[in-house]
Amino acid sequence: METLVNDLRRSFQTGKTMPYKWRVAQLEGILRLMNEREKEIMEALWSDLAKPRTEAYLHEISLSKAGCKFALKELKNWMKPEKVPSLIATFSSTAQIVPEPLGVVLVISAWNYPFALIIDPLIGAVAAGNAVVLKPSEVAPSTSAFFAKFLPHYVDTSCIQVVEGGVTETTELLEQKWDKIFYTGSGTVGRIVMAAAAKHLTPVALELGGKCPVVFDSDVNLKVAVKRMAIGKWGCNNGQACIAPDYIITTKSFAPKLVDALKETLKEFYGEDPLESADLSRIVSSNHFRRLTDFLDEENIPEKIVHGGGRDEKHLKIAPTVLLDVPHDSLIMKDEIFGPLLPIITVEKLEDCFELINSRPKPLAAYLFSKNKRLEEEFVQKVFAGGILINDVALHVANPHLPFGGVGESGTGAYHGKFSFDTFSHKKAVLSRGYATEMRIRARYPPYTHHKQII
Ligand code: NAD
Repeated sequence: METLVNDLRRSFQTGKTMPYKWRVAQLEGILRLMNEREKEIMEALWSDLAKPRTEAYLHEISLSKAGCKFALKELKNWMKPEKVPSLIATFSSTAQIVPEPLGVVLVISAWNYPFALIIDPLIGAVAAGNAVVLKPSEVAPSTSAFFAKFLPHYVDTSCIQVVEGGVTETTELLEQKWDKIFYTGSGTVGRIVMAAAAKHLTPVALELGGKCPVVFDSDVNLKVAVKRMAIGKWGCNNGQACIAPDYIITTKSFAPKLVDALKETLKEFYGEDPLESADLSRIVSSNHFRRLTDFLDEENIPEKIVHGGGRDEKHLKIAPTVLLDVPHDSLIMKDEIFGPLLPIITVEKLEDCFELINSRPKPLAAYLFSKNKRLEEEFVQKVFAGGILINDVALHVANPHLPFGGVGESGTGAYHGKFSFDTFSHKKAVLSRGYATEMRIRARYPPYTHHKQII
């Protein structure tokens, strides 16, 4: 690992990653990889997660292609130094902010969107002119192998490398000195990454998870709202997504209507036997399967299931499952669910949601379904979260003009579009002045007795 990092550092120090031309060549290479190897990407995602083709294309390939094209279109602007005003104190100087690459950066990613979670940070890292080591997740071994096999044919391998492996390899990578570590995954490992980075004073971006709440008002277009919520939950990797709805908050009086609408939509989407549906991803591994079934098997929880509950351990399938009124201290309400289970918490009045949400760690995203504008404003103002969506879920990931990232325990730093470029750049302050006006600023120099005239 040490040799690898040293080699990349030497390449970076030659200055080859700095020119616009090198950056464009890498971005074009990444785009070609996606265009020419679409079949292999789809196969890898199927092998790792049985990810439905439409989902795989829309959420991983198509979004990443759009992100790459956006970077290619905007790169010249992003790289331009930004002129800023000069004040009296800095009279007769010019001032600008010059973005510069950080150096050699490490990207460690998670298994749930194993293609996009490598490609998207890579786009930002090379656009900003860095050398990069990519460490895909070993829990998605086919996608990891895809990167190791194909990426080197499309990018400059003297500056961009893939390292496959799990805990041992990642630990060794974390011992090296990096100029930035960009990590996507759980908070538990996020803490390990941050501690390792602290030893070298390396800055980090942590893209973590959490429990994303959905608040459901009765004043909604119920059919449309439930469809949007359901596709953002089960249509995103069968709930194995960081921004998938984790739990619903609604009023006691509205809950029965909501449950009925959910049942109807789930039947419409996935048929009478969702375990047989080809439109639902499987659970990634037997460990995660057990983690999820443990939530369902906890004492007193089975009777809370109002829809679904089916499982097929052999094929690692769990059906979309809705639970009503689970206790606040149950396992399913403690940890991030990251799977197809959806508990509903009921409250007397919807405004109680603020206290409930803000009593937990700040989520990566929070969602509200309501036509009530006053409630919408209150929600945006009162809920602390990485992002907020009104009358939809998860969609903000597709807008490169919005930063994507968490706050507090759901992460630090953001990316997508220009935010990716910024996260992998240093903003260098540059001030330049000539010699012509020296007489005007004599008071700057000792002897300070001159200051009497000023102070
Ligand atoms: P994970 O933390 O188990 O693994 C992520 C990466 O960390 C992998 O590459 C793995 O090899 C490495 N790793 C695992 N254990 C390690 C250790 N002890 N030391 C060093 N490295 C180690 O996370 P996961 O299960 O792959 O991902 C699930 C989590 O990621 C969820 O919490 C989810 O919300 C979050 N997530 C966040 C985003 C986001 O963009 N914010 C996206 C996807 C997933």
